[in-house]
Amino acid sequence: MSVRSTEVRLAARPHGWPTAGTFEITQTDVPDPGPGQLLVRNRLMSVDPYMRGRMDDRKSYVPPFQVGEPLDGGAVGEVVASAADGFEPGDTVLHGLGWREYALVEARSAVKVDPAVAPLGAYLGVLGMTGMTAYAGLLRTAEFKPGDVVFVSSAAGAVGQVVGQLARHRGAGRVIGSAGSAAKVAYLTDELGFDAAFDYHDGTVREQLKRAAPDGIDVYFDNVGGDHLEAAISALNVHGRITVCGMISVYNATEPTPAPRNLAMLIGKRITMRGMLVRDHGDLRETFVKEVAPLVADGTIRHRETVFEGLERAPEAFLAMLRGEGVGKNLVRIG
Ligand code: NAP
Repeated sequence: MSVRSTEVRLAARPHGWPTAGTFEITQTDVPDPGPGQLLVRNRLMSVDPYMRGRMDDRKSYVPPFQVGEPLDGGAVGEVVASAADGFEPGDTVLHGLGWREYALVEARSAVKVDPAVAPLGAYLGVLGMTGMTAYAGLLRTAEFKPGDVVFVSSAAGAVGQVVGQLARHRGAGRVIGSAGSAAKVAYLTDELGFDAAFDYHDGTVREQLKRAAPDGIDVYFDNVGGDHLEAAISALNVHGRITVCGMISVYNATEPTPAPRNLAMLIGKRITMRGMLVRDHGDLRETFVKEVAPLVADGTIRHRETVFEGLERAPEAFLAMLRGEGVGKNLVRIG
């Protein structure tokens, strides 16, 4: 027996920005699960910036997608057949085989989640990978302490919206965010309680950050790179810390991009600039859920999702996420 399933494959490697031609939507037969496997009907999948890097054929911390093969990534679905101990049809699982309707999942790489405890989207966002990135990147990588003035870029995105609110909750002196539209700026200040926010299209990041943080910043949580990073280095106080989480402004670049021109400031200000990968911080997961789940439940940490309906719209959802058209966590509902 097998089931007919729709999946999204990499049709061609993009040069610069991906296009509709980067993707191919096709049908395939998915067999019954073998020993230790689950057949999962996906309900919701994540589109993430790191997937852009995997479309290029280069060595990185995750292997590249292969042309002609389905893409993959975070997804939540329902077990429809199980050949693994501890999993039953009807269970809901979080796993890594998104971009398809049905997935044949190794049970050891699936985690049971409870849709009664939190909505499915939360397991991919605020209580999932992106929330965990914010938690580890702020508290461990940046060594946040109460009183710190924190600046986060892409602040209305999946990671950024949690960084700012967590900093606020943990006693930040001031929280500042940048985002790509007036509506996102209003979301940050009016709904999420940021002290200040600006649209990076409205002037140079450097000048706008200076106005928002006249006494400088202590932590910069970098999701963007480029001019944001350079402006943050200028604004950082002595012993400032930078979490290098992402640099989305260069992910579609076709030429090497310039480094911040003010890197020498790291010396005099004794700035620490540290890259991070969420997967190195699995030991924090339990603490993260214990602290953040109640804050989400009681509304202290708010979050938004932008959901595209239908697997065939997954390429469109991915491109919209890269362009900044959605607010919060970008997801695709399947079936
Ligand atoms: P996200 O912020 O929800 O979505 C990406 C956002 O980037 C867009 O909505 C857009 O918002 C913004 N953007 C796109 N191009 C930009 C540009 N040129 N300048 C400024 N902003 C731009 O994505 P996310 O999942 O939360 O990820 C945020 C960052 O963290 C990404 O860089 C990602 O690679 C990184 N990340 C790293 C880890 C890790 O383990 N290190 C884990 C997860 C995510 P605007 O409308 O504001 O422009």
